[in-house]
Amino acid sequence: MKKHIVIVGGGFAGINLVKSLVNDKRFRITLVDKNNYHFFPPLIYQVATSFIEASNISYPFRRLFSNYKNVNFHMGSLVKVNPESNSLETDTGNLQYDYLVLALGTESNFFGMENVQRCSLPMKTIEEALYLRNYMLLNLEEAARNKDIKEAQKLQNIVIAGGGPTGVELAGMIAEMGTYIAEKEYREIKLSLSNIYLIDALPTLLSPMSKLAQEAAYNKLKKLGVKIILNVAVKDYVDGKVILADGKTIETETLIWTSGVIGREVPGIPEESVGKGRRLLVDSYNKVEGTKNIYALGDIALQLTEEKYPKGHPQLAQVAIQHANNLGENFKRIEEEKVLNPFKYNDKGSMAIISKFNAVVDLPKFSFKGFLAWLTWLFIHIIPLVGFRSKVRLAFTWLRLFITNNPSIRLILRPKKDTSEH
Ligand SMILES: Cc1cc2nc3c(=O)[nH]c(=O)nc-3n(C[C@H](O)[C@H](O)[C@H](O)COP(=O)(O)OP(=O)(O)OC[C@H]3O[C@@H](n4cnc5c(N)ncnc54)[C@H](O)[C@@H]3O)c2cc1C
Repeated sequence: MKKHIVIVGGGFAGINLVKSLVNDKRFRITLVDKNNYHFFPPLIYQVATSFIEASNISYPFRRLFSNYKNVNFHMGSLVKVNPESNSLETDTGNLQYDYLVLALGTESNFFGMENVQRCSLPMKTIEEALYLRNYMLLNLEEAARNKDIKEAQKLQNIVIAGGGPTGVELAGMIAEMGTYIAEKEYREIKLSLSNIYLIDALPTLLSPMSKLAQEAAYNKLKKLGVKIILNVAVKDYVDGKVILADGKTIETETLIWTSGVIGREVPGIPEESVGKGRRLLVDSYNKVEGTKNIYALGDIALQLTEEKYPKGHPQLAQVAIQHANNLGENFKRIEEEKVLNPFKYNDKGSMAIISKFNAVVDLPKFSFKGFLAWLTWLFIHIIPLVGFRSKVRLAFTWLRLFITNNPSIRLILRPKKDTSEH
């Protein structure tokens, strides 16, 4: 009897687990995802800023696994897990499993601020990136028509909450687009009215990275005209006014939220198995505590068993990929009745792009910045993209854009019929 492994979530963790088990006749795999495509989150800020197409960084699951007979795809959103009957409910049907793997990732955390949740613009999914792209382009059109200086300024001001890699990359790209594009194409707009604010409650940008990276990001963004506000949290967002913890306010129609994440909810999992940040507590083999045959991988897993990471691993693509590879190997070892391998994270470093030709890279032993770091960033972000055509298309798109400084996909596309209820 083949063991049926159901994997919920086809992000970095989910697809790498599938890859490690394809063509192994001992397993039948069903991948469940609410979307029909895998996507690459580190580059969605380039989709939001009209730099690249969503299809450059997304790939359909059915195409991805079309050559593997032991893999099926089930499009649906997880509703509930029933551990006692080894089954799960999705909004498009129920499934039985021998092993269940939860790799649903995280969602934006608004820290209980209801107005911020309702009115700010998060950027964690392709849908959110496309919405943000339309939203910013529509605001520019409105600003171009608006004769009232105060109103125009409110439309042109952009506030980014969160000074991590996503906030830094977004701020740098929007600032450069102001210089290269707005001046030429939106001639009615007074650029002197536009301000980009980057706000973080911590004392530095890129807080998990090296001092060299933090200072390089700060200095370059300042030079590009970004107004950086540190040591102050966003507290509220009322009537188009961002309210900061020190009482200051900023008028804007655009508050972009890149400030924190929380694990996606998994109804049916025992409450005691849910840890800080709503992540699922797992042992060193990624088995969810208090369960027999349920595993969690990637951003949603909280593994406190490795001495070097007493608060759990960072929520990064490399952790998700390595979790998946280790669990794939362990599923085979279970079948062969071999001793299982505990998870051990191999930190390969981190990086962030600041602006054109400028990035910062922290490797385990040293850090570097500037043009070489930028080339390294481009290379490292092309390699893990799924699909050969995606890599080639992205490489050509980047080459053209970096030479011409003119991405031409600033199209406001508004689908007419909502298909989400289909
Ligand atoms: C904007 C952004 C930039 C980032 N930049 C970097 C970077 O530069 N370097 C880096 O290492 N990391 C980066 N990260 C973090 C990295 O993307 C995550 O660590 C990684 O994606 C985690 O992988 P995962 O498989 O656990 O989850 P995800 O990749 O988030 O995948 C989760 C999957 O679950 C699916 N799903 C969600 N809910 C349901 C449901 N209810 N039912 C069914 N399916 C569901 C989703 O559709 C998705 O396919 C970035 C993240 C973001 C958001």
